[in-house]
Amino acid sequence: MRKPFVAGNWKMNADGHASVELAKAIAFGSSESAEQVHIAIIPPFVYIPAVVKAVSTARIAVGAQDIYFEQKGAFTGEISASMLKDTGCTYALCGHSERRHVIGENDELVNKKVAAAISGGLLPILCVGELIEERKASKTEEVVTRQLKNGLAGLNIEKASAVTIAYEPVWAIGTGLTATPQQAQEVHALIRKLLSKMYSAQLAEEIRILYGGSVKPDNAGELMRQQDIDGVLVGGASLNADDFLAIIQAAV
Ligand code: PEP
Repeated sequence: MRKPFVAGNWKMNADGHASVELAKAIAFGSSESAEQVHIAIIPPFVYIPAVVKAVSTARIAVGAQDIYFEQKGAFTGEISASMLKDTGCTYALCGHSERRHVIGENDELVNKKVAAAISGGLLPILCVGELIEERKASKTEEVVTRQLKNGLAGLNIEKASAVTIAYEPVWAIGTGLTATPQQAQEVHALIRKLLSKMYSAQLAEEIRILYGGSVKPDNAGELMRQQDIDGVLVGGASLNADDFLAIIQAAV
């Protein structure tokens, strides 16, 4: 049985005070559901230590929105997996669509980040998803297959089992357009089938695949009731404690 997983990506939002207040409100409001739902919050880098402290007595993991693949050295502005681990992070997003399509990261770089996260003791959340033009051109399967295979390239089964996959259609992120539960389930089932071929049926059965893209309290429940949707990666709605807590509740 895969435990439901709800993660909130705060992106470049909230200041220090707001981050701590939001983290505390989520910790307080999720104290009962945290046993049944795995919860992670993913604040901006600079607020990670304060957020880790704010949730220290709660069952809430903290993640980073990105990492760099080198361990240390002359990489001005970058942060390594071990540094993030040291601040109390458990997870790292790798290849979020805004990193791919706004910052310009490609599959090769994303793959290095996934590998570096694992080597540095973090659990990567590998994000994949197609653009609207790609969906319209019936290329969703091709794009997701490429991003998944390239993102996991070179990882053996043991390392791959540390990964969570997030299917986030780019056209649904921050747009208010959500994939229908059927559209999302179709891609999640494809990802599980691919993982089974790439690794094993057991790994495919155990790995968590999250959906992301305008998840809100009123659509989260139906999405998570789909067979292959194990939870959600939430952007905008994770900035409001009540909304995020309602989404966590929908996973119970
Ligand atoms: C995200 O940032 O991963 C995301 C899915 O954002 P939103 O929920 O705002 O669409």
